[in-house]
Amino acid sequence: MRKGMLLTISAPSGTGKSTLINMLMEKHPEFSFSVSYTTRSPRQGEVEGKDYFFTQREKFLSLKDQGFFAEWAEVHGNFYGTPRQKVLDALESGQSLIFDIDVQGASQLKKNLNTGLFLFIFPPSLKVLEKRLVNRGTDDLETIKKRIHNAKQEISLSHMFDFWLINDDLGQAFAQLEALVSAEKMRPVYKPDLPKTVLNNTWSQDHE
Ligand code: 5GP
Repeated sequence: MRKGMLLTISAPSGTGKSTLINMLMEKHPEFSFSVSYTTRSPRQGEVEGKDYFFTQREKFLSLKDQGFFAEWAEVHGNFYGTPRQKVLDALESGQSLIFDIDVQGASQLKKNLNTGLFLFIFPPSLKVLEKRLVNRGTDDLETIKKRIHNAKQEISLSHMFDFWLINDDLGQAFAQLEALVSAEKMRPVYKPDLPKTVLNNTWSQDHE
């Protein structure tokens, strides 16, 4: 059976990660999104079960203690976690999954899964990032300060990722992301039956 691709993407918030993930999923419907649990409140337009499973703190901590999460982390004062079962199902069924998680979570997944593609997206500079966060208008100044502080920490841990991408020009960044996914798909592991198929398809067989 074809093995699904597990693609983990981390980036400081405001880097354009969600936009790139949405573009990728729209053009490559074989990917589905690993919906995380979070204790943060929903933002305008966010949908329960699609963007996140919004959860009370007590409930999250109890799920964590039961081993419900493949990885979890505290980010900007809230808890976030990836449900373990979804990852196991994807590994078993060959489905491709995208994880939009922070650096701490990516590091745990890398250790626990021992497979998959780990991509870190950089903003062109902290200055550009700050400007984007202000323009986005979803966070107050205090939150933006927290996010910039976090961005510095995340960037300092970016060496653990297999690939780096700079989102300066969105079109260019998307082309690079697609190129990465295409190259990854060439690994024999995703098409284990290919040699057999090629060997079994001969001209003489068709003309017997
Ligand atoms: P936001 O609150 O802006 O949606 O997400 C804040 C940060 O939490 C982002 O860096 C996002 O990638 C990360 N995040 C979202 N879901 C998870 C998760 O399940 N685990 C971890 N470790 N981080 C997550």
